[in-house]
This record gives sequence, C-alpha cells and structure tokens, in this order.
Amino acid sequence: MSSELWKEALRYFPGGVNSPVRAAVKPYPFYVSQGKGAYIYTEDGNSLIDYVLGYGPLILGHANEYVKEKVIEQIEKGWLFGIPSRVEIELARKISFHMPSIEKIRFVNSGTEATMNAIRLARGYTKRDKILKFNGNYHGAHDYALVDAGSAASEFGVPNSEGIPQEVLKTVIVCEYNDLQCVEKKLKNEDIAAVIVEPVMGNMGVIPPEKGFLKGLREFTSTYNTLLIFDEVITGFRLSMGGAQEYFGVSADLTTLGKIIGGGFPIGAFGGKREIMDMLTPSGKVFNAGTFNANPISMTAGLATLEVMERENVIEKTTYVAEKVTEELERIKYPHVINRVKNMFQIFFGVEKVSNATEARRAKKEVYLKFQVNLMKNGVYFPPSQFESVFTSLAHYDDNVISDTVLAIKKSSELS
Ligand SMILES: *Cc1c(COP(=O)(O)O)cnc(C)c1O
Repeated sequence: MSSELWKEALRYFPGGVNSPVRAAVKPYPFYVSQGKGAYIYTEDGNSLIDYVLGYGPLILGHANEYVKEKVIEQIEKGWLFGIPSRVEIELARKISFHMPSIEKIRFVNSGTEATMNAIRLARGYTKRDKILKFNGNYHGAHDYALVDAGSAASEFGVPNSEGIPQEVLKTVIVCEYNDLQCVEKKLKNEDIAAVIVEPVMGNMGVIPPEKGFLKGLREFTSTYNTLLIFDEVITGFRLSMGGAQEYFGVSADLTTLGKIIGGGFPIGAFGGKREIMDMLTPSGKVFNAGTFNANPISMTAGLATLEVMERENVIEKTTYVAEKVTEELERIKYPHVINRVKNMFQIFFGVEKVSNATEARRAKKEVYLKFQVNLMKNGVYFPPSQFESVFTSLAHYDDNVISDTVLAIKKSSELS
C-alpha cells in the first residue's frame, strides 16, 4: 500500500522523497509498480493514464518495446566500460544531423550537468564571469541555476535556494521572460558571458516565447559578443526533430539537451559550435569529465528513441493528442488560460494571460491542484504541480486513451 510505503519513506528520505516534486502529490505520493504505454499502475491497484511521463523524457510512452529490446541487447554485451563505444558516435551523428547548430557534443548524465558545463564553457570562451537567466526558467539544480528558478523550486517556495555563496549570486543576472528591453540593458551595462534561456518555458507550467523574443535574444547576444545558450532539455526532439531552434528558426551558440535523448535513462548533453566546444578538455582547458558520461545504456535507449521518432512521425501524433485534450480543457467553465506549444501544455485558472513567471505565480494554484486530484480519481495523472508541463506520448495516440481522458476531464471540472 502506498500509505505504508510513504510512512517508511518519511523515515529515510528528507521530505519522504528523492526529488521534491514527487512530494507534491496529495494527500501523499502514490507508489508506482509498473508502467506500460500510456498507463502507470500503482501499488494500490489503480491504473492511471500518465501525462507526466517522467517529467518529459518518455515521448514514446512507458516501456516501449523497441527501446526495451535494444537496451536488453546492450545489457547482454555489458553496460559500462569507461572506454569509447560505437553507440556514442551513432547518437552524436543523429543529434548533429537534426540539430545542425550542434557541430560537436559532450554527453553527460543529467540536464543539471549539461547547463552547469555549458555555462562554465561560455565563461572560459568569453573570459567573462556573469550569466543572464530568466525568472522562472529552470536549468537544473546547481548553484548558478537556482536563482529565481522554476519547477519544484517554485512549487516549494524556494526559487532562490539557501546555501549558494554570495559570490555566485553576484554573477547571475535575472530578467523577466519575454522582456527584451531588460536583456538589452543588461548586456549593454555588464560583461555577460552567456544568456541561457528555455526557448519555451516548461518549468513554470508552459509559457511560449512572444513573437520576436528569441530572435531578439539572438541579435542582442551577437551584438555584445555574448553566447546564446538554448536550454533544450525539454524542447529538444519535442517541438520538432531540430528542437526549438528549428521550430522558431533561431540558432544558438550552445545547446543543452537531456530527457528525450536518453530514452528514459539518465542523460544530459551540451553541444554547439566547433571552436567553442574544442575548448573542452582534453582538446582545451575547460574541464569536464564523468564516470558515466556517454554510458552505453543511455546512448542505446536514446538512439532507439530517436529512430522510432524518425520512423513514426511522433511529434505530429503527440501534438494531435495534445490538441484533443486541450480542446476538452477549453470547455471547463472556471475561468482559465491554456498555454500550448505542440505537444506540451498547461492550464492556469483565474488568470487571463500567462506570459512570464510573475503572471504564472498569480494563477490559482489551489484550483489547479483540485482539478489535478479530481483527475487522478478519474484515472488520469496530470503533473501534481502548476509549475510543470503536461506531456503527451506516442502511446497516447490511441482512440481509447484520448476518449477516456476526455471523459475524465468532463467528470473532473466541477471546481468552484
Ligand atoms: C529537467 C530540466 C533540466 C534538468 O535536467 P535534470 O536531468 O533533471 O538534471 C534542465 N533544464 C530544463 C529546461 C529542464 O526541463
């Protein structure tokens, strides 16, 4: 039973969990025993249609057969060598083919590592210390990212974590998302190594960039010789095979990836222009290393996932599901706004527009949580936090999954 497991978990783990958002499920987290396709199964014997999908990576759904076969084949051959293996080249080739701004890449183990290293590399390359980020953007859980951070940091009321040295805080400058004027002013007045941005915010609910915002960032950073880092840990291989860069037609100097490219196994990556990437050790003097970097299991699962995506038009199919689900959400009587970009979306109650983190924080979180709990009772699992994105998977591209979801929404929308 989940209630018993939770009681014991509270004894072993701070707040009962190993990553904070997992504690946001009310009244207590259910424990998952299995996942298959669009469904997860709980220790209490319930099944739920899963729209969280590991917070983004599982774009094919749970336990995809092709990915599973490939991973098992690799496990038969061994799973860690600390020596290069063929599959890392195959995955790099595929990523670079779809995202041409990534001429060279380094595989690490999480999105956190990806942004931490991309920021260090930008500093090494520009010989400047400061970075500019946006309020509510989430770039993982390292010191430079936990300033006005979104995701669980915002859910639990600590967008600014304790334990970060003042010296570090002085190097992180924050603007509001979609505020180009702020960016131009800061770039003009300070020596900034890099602007790091989520090209679509996926960690404050979903917030799209306004028209011209990303292009503006591209122009201003070029003018001031500042690097532009697109944090595509969510958007990479989600909005299009070429990520947000292809979708919006703006190209970054450095790109961080994670989530989907590991097919559900731990991964991160950062890549970009050859001359910048070559500053990394061993060819250059900006250090990065990792015992598990480019581990064959994550490489294999990622490669298999991208192969399925190439074959099966996954982005259009997942977008179709998102359209059907949001069409039903639109019918909810309680005043709301829905932000959707392709196959990622979120609903905000009691507000008219959400175009930055400040506006997202004004939404009625308690109404969202009520809706989320209602949905769970009706067999559908939406993120337990207003500040996460709803995702769809290939496995959701199924008439029964869609109609069961629509029905659950109808039954769950009594919110006043
Ligand atoms: C999830 C996420 C990260 C962090 O990735 P982890 O693998 O959880 O460390 C970084 N940036 C963005 C945009 C993310 O959504």
